[in-house]
Amino acid sequence: MESTPVSLGLPSIRESWPAAGLDVDGLRHRGWEPLPFTEFVIKIHSRCNLACDYCYVYEMADQSWRDQPKTMSRKVFDEALGMIADHVRRFRTPAVTLVFHGGEPLLVGHRDLEYFARAAREILEPITTVRLGVQTNGVLLDPEFLRICARWNVYVGVSLDGDETGNDRHRRDRRGIGSYARVAAGIAHLHADEHRRLFAGLLCTIDVANDPVRTYEALVELRPPAIDFLLPHGNWTTPPPAKAAGSAGTPYADWLITVFDRWFLSTEPETRVRIFDDIIDLLLGGSVSSETFGLAPVRLAVIETDGTLEQVDELKSAFAGATRLPVPEAGNPLDLALREPAIIARQIGAAALSDACLECPVQIVCGGGHYVHRYSAGNGFRNRSVYCADLITLIRHIEARVRAALRPAGDH
Ligand code: SF4
Repeated sequence: MESTPVSLGLPSIRESWPAAGLDVDGLRHRGWEPLPFTEFVIKIHSRCNLACDYCYVYEMADQSWRDQPKTMSRKVFDEALGMIADHVRRFRTPAVTLVFHGGEPLLVGHRDLEYFARAAREILEPITTVRLGVQTNGVLLDPEFLRICARWNVYVGVSLDGDETGNDRHRRDRRGIGSYARVAAGIAHLHADEHRRLFAGLLCTIDVANDPVRTYEALVELRPPAIDFLLPHGNWTTPPPAKAAGSAGTPYADWLITVFDRWFLSTEPETRVRIFDDIIDLLLGGSVSSETFGLAPVRLAVIETDGTLEQVDELKSAFAGATRLPVPEAGNPLDLALREPAIIARQIGAAALSDACLECPVQIVCGGGHYVHRYSAGNGFRNRSVYCADLITLIRHIEARVRAALRPAGDH
């Protein structure tokens, strides 16, 4: 069924920056070339067994999931692999990552997950290095899923927001029952000796109402190799929770700084925290592949359960239809997407930044923040992040801590 754009009185993707205003021809004339995609988020199931109240797929502006088939068919999956293989061959891409995603990807069941993982290895491995992952809410994680993941080397990321109280504030099922106990049971299976290597980490969406140290320590207790803290999605038109657009308050920086100090000053290394590692790497002159910090090109495409190619999913939090790309009549949609302003805008680094970001002293580290958080219904995506005040405060704090740690002893 053809999806119908939901009209919220907001501009379509064609009427605001970058679709309107980004000079693609000029960029190319000056020698800029797009980079091929290397990361593919494959929506193998479009529904979820939880109903988290902040979910950008189900609870925000874009409701296009209603028109998507529930499950990606094997035929559509094979066609998607063909499209990726063709793109990889054309650009001689040395390595790609495929992440099975949803909705909740494990709703496809054991047999389909095995089919998808095996097919991905068989089709892509002869032409490139393949890393496979699945991002799950953990509720259905059982030994059989993990045996399949072990057989095909599929890394497992689990979404969890902290301790039971913190997690279950938002991550509940449709009956209103919290998911913590079921997720913790799933993670316990991941700690079996034969599966532990598959544990990629925990993904925690920040709620500033949750105590930061208790949240961090509850996650560390589950022994993840890495934690990703996510800022909840919001933008200048629809601000994030606990944050008025443009306000000087920094509730998210305050929360993250408390966690940072607990993590950085810990006497034993406990886990990696990606958001902090990325900021430190960038402060020290490194380059990181991150959607939230820095200016590195984003090379990620999303494939929906009907096989449609889309932009990163989080854009669904901005406005209805924000992820949509034109459907080409002929040719490889991935190759053709590289001509789209919406894709190009995420690969041109500082050239996509607002004037305010270009003048910002932490521009190289911050990179304007997550693209999704820059959106304003008035002018699209060429704005500071709605989290600007938080980002600059957090980066400054980490910079001061790192400088102090690097200072030779006795040098004050
Ligand atoms: S801190 Fe604010 S002004 Fe500076 S780069 Fe980030 S979003 Fe832009």
